[in-house]
Amino acid sequence: MTAAARAGGAAGQAAGRRRWVALRTQWLVLAFYALDAGLMAGFAVLGSVPAALPWAFGLGGAALTLLFATAVGLGLHRRLGAARFTSAQLLSACALMLGTAALVPQMGLLLFMTTLVAVATAAVQMPRRHVLAATLSVGLCAVLLVLVHGPALGLPLADRWERLLSGLWFGIVLAKIAVINLIGSALRQALVDSNRRLGEALEQLRELSERDELTGLANRRAVMAQLEQAVARCAGGGAPLAVALLDVDHFKRVNDTHGHAAGDAVLRAFADAVTARLRSSDCVARYGGEEFLLLLPGCGEPAAAAQAAERARLVVEGHGWDAVAGGLRITVSIGVAVCQPGETAAALLQRADAALYRAKAGGRNRVCTG
Ligand code: GH3
Ligand code: MG
Ligand code: MG
Repeated sequence: MTAAARAGGAAGQAAGRRRWVALRTQWLVLAFYALDAGLMAGFAVLGSVPAALPWAFGLGGAALTLLFATAVGLGLHRRLGAARFTSAQLLSACALMLGTAALVPQMGLLLFMTTLVAVATAAVQMPRRHVLAATLSVGLCAVLLVLVHGPALGLPLADRWERLLSGLWFGIVLAKIAVINLIGSALRQALVDSNRRLGEALEQLRELSERDELTGLANRRAVMAQLEQAVARCAGGGAPLAVALLDVDHFKRVNDTHGHAAGDAVLRAFADAVTARLRSSDCVARYGGEEFLLLLPGCGEPAAAAQAAERARLVVEGHGWDAVAGGLRITVSIGVAVCQPGETAAALLQRADAALYRAKAGGRNRVCTG
């Protein structure tokens, strides 16, 4: 599967999961409306509210939920944006509850409690602007209700059954808060997990972006960054530094004679052989094509740098290239330069390149110092 297909699959999965979460929210909202309608039915049986009220409230809640669930099913919630969608659902729920409180002010305070839970739940998912607009409009409506109904707005507490139902309503408000928090913490955990996976994927991407695909060595971008740092340390009086530019001799002939795949195999084996011969503090990177750059930190003497380069040259010359193609012989020319005080990375590389040119001109398969 290609990276693009994988990314497309992951995006599709994420969209599917968001839709599933949105639909699950609608089921939860429906369950909350049903609970409230059930308790209202209790009040209706006691004669505290009209018999039609639980039906009207329950059907109103179900109709609103169906409307929003259909919008989720059609993907309208994504087109509208999560903030606007949540605001719309919150305001419609508050309108239903405060409208009911206006009709039956005797249980108005219970409906106020439920309204508070709805606002507090939705607000954590909404941007500040929407929260301000929603709380302002809901607050104004509530103040209006209080002004209009005055002391009529209350809690049904006339007998013990009403008290029991009012207490139950309060308990259910608390239970709703608990459920919402449990779902919220599961979502937060999912977010933490997905952030961790994202972090790991980013780290992998960063590593990949710094590796040469063919040889597995650091690529030019990565080694140039390392070189700049090492040169800066050297210029600041820190550890000395030498660099070596390695260029495989007559590599074009390998491709022409044995094919491009054999050429690739040579580059891979070359990288492995040179890497195996290095000190742990040294670094070899693919500079481009059949050219490699060797960083030799701590190496301040041209003779020591040339010695390290000579070890690399010998390992290449002595490698069992027959494994790649019968009769194949590979050699490398190397240009070495030791960093001078105040020298830039570009100037250092230029001196190594000039030394490499001399190694080539001098007959190849040799080390020259710049
Ligand atoms: P010289 O000794 O002067 O360096 O000669 P050369 O043939 O090594 O140098 P030249 O620049 O003429 O050719 C380099 C060749 O390396 C040409 C290019 O096709 C080949 N090459 C560059 N990158 C790759 C690669 O990733 N795989 C393979 N197989 N060949 C590559
Ligand atoms: Mg070359
Ligand atoms: Mg070459």
